[in-house]
Amino acid sequence: MKKIQMVDLKVQYESIKDQVNRSFEEIIDSTAFINGPEVQKFQKELENYLGVKHVIPCANGTDALQIAMMGLGLKPGDEVITADFTFAATVEVIALLQLTPVLVDVEPDTFNIDPEAIKKAITSKTKAIVPVHLFGQAANMDAIMEIAKEHNLNVIEDNAQAIGGNFHSIDGNVYKTGTMGDVSATSFFPSKNLGCYGDGGAIFTNNDKLAHTIRGIVNHGMYERYHHDVVGVNSRLDSLQAAVLRAKLPLLDTYNDARQKAADKYDEAFKGQSDIQIPKREEDRDAHVFHQYTLKITNGKRDELAKHLQEKNIPFGIYYPIPLHLQKAYVDERYKEADFPVTNTLVKEVISLPMHTELDDEQITYITRTIKEFFNM
Ligand SMILES: *Cc1c(COP(=O)(O)O)cnc(C)c1O
Repeated sequence: MKKIQMVDLKVQYESIKDQVNRSFEEIIDSTAFINGPEVQKFQKELENYLGVKHVIPCANGTDALQIAMMGLGLKPGDEVITADFTFAATVEVIALLQLTPVLVDVEPDTFNIDPEAIKKAITSKTKAIVPVHLFGQAANMDAIMEIAKEHNLNVIEDNAQAIGGNFHSIDGNVYKTGTMGDVSATSFFPSKNLGCYGDGGAIFTNNDKLAHTIRGIVNHGMYERYHHDVVGVNSRLDSLQAAVLRAKLPLLDTYNDARQKAADKYDEAFKGQSDIQIPKREEDRDAHVFHQYTLKITNGKRDELAKHLQEKNIPFGIYYPIPLHLQKAYVDERYKEADFPVTNTLVKEVISLPMHTELDDEQITYITRTIKEFFNM
């Protein structure tokens, strides 16, 4: 059996090696390292794939979130509602811009931000909502967009974990994640569903004016060379990373399909087991792109299982072990423990299994058998 990895980028590389290496050579020969043609081509190709008017590449997903918020003109003191159960980058940029993060609880089955909790957190200072499409499945965007419309709030989608995923709206349409809010942010960190070989990120929007504003912000606030109209940042995707992304984008649906197939096999092995809850997914197959395959272990034995997996050389992840509202950097007297029953439980129950595009049947069988043995199933 091949060594089981949480994420296997080496084997995936083998299949795109010729193209990637050829592009790297061409870029190095041309020395167009920054803002070269590869970046512009990738931008157009991603716009076409997503069906979104503007993709603005940048240096990483955290920058993408920050720049999206800067582009919307959010001001210190504005309240921004986001999920208590997510990667810290989401809340970090809110705090960094001196906006006020307002963390709310999530849904127990999808792990995504709970629209009812959003409603309860809205005040006269609320200016934006940041839904995170956690682990590869869209948050309830129908409910979130409705709340945003009613209260005149901006919606910034954190699409770092769900690129290529679809949202089946009650309006009958199917939308790509990251194309429904006012603006979205994604990450091309190597382990993400569409990852490069270093850092990378992008902002998406259908709003022409906002896209123009953001294009200046990523480039030191310049709209005309050496005229700095607003305070900007320096955030660029480099040409080598764009070349990797151009090799992978045509394969993104195939990659996500491989993740879904691995998830099907995990589901099949664990379904009906009372102590193990498999991840909920919407009926439509393309709605969950499994950035993570996350089980809930409901009998209090999550940590024991983790130890067992370690002994059997099976990698795993605990995403996330501590609710954001309990992190020192984000404590706020407005929070009460009773506001976060779901997140407080999830942090003790979740465990993510190896998930990538190259998992084979032998590995999946070994993983599922090892877990079932632990539970004496
Ligand atoms: C990875 C991630 C980010 C940050 O992306 P970087 O490219 O690492 O800066 C933001 N939000 C979520 C939910 C993520 O998973």
